[in-house]
Amino acid sequence: MAYDPNNVFARILRGEIPCKKVYEDEHSLAFHDINPQAPVHILVIPKGPYVSMADFGASASEAEIAGFFRAVAKVAADAGLVETGYRILANTGRHGNQEVPHFHVHIFGGAPLGRMIGKVG
Ligand code: 5GP
Repeated sequence: MAYDPNNVFARILRGEIPCKKVYEDEHSLAFHDINPQAPVHILVIPKGPYVSMADFGASASEAEIAGFFRAVAKVAADAGLVETGYRILANTGRHGNQEVPHFHVHIFGGAPLGRMIGKVG
């Protein structure tokens, strides 16, 4: 799947759509989800044009991958979630129900999150 430069997160990265930013560095941007599913619900995205986890894992540089996952951990820590715990999630592709075709990790926390997912299939 080709990267769509007009997806909503690309537009946030270009400053065309506002976001409630919580963190930014060379490789990553983090902001609050517009439709939070938990008391804390933050999205972390790489700045590079990667469609999905599959694309990011296959094509991003070592520096981008290391920088991104360090950013995810830092954002969760800065949000005060380490002691009580949190969940990260990367919906990928059709069965993963990915809506925005720019790789992103959800960070959920601030309350008990229950089991991983409902049973499917
Ligand atoms: P996905 O289903 O692709 O993993 O999740 C996409 C997420 O992006 C959803 O949780 C949705 O609420 C969030 N989202 C969609 N559009 C916007 C937006 O314009 N701003 C922000 N902050 N979040 C958005």
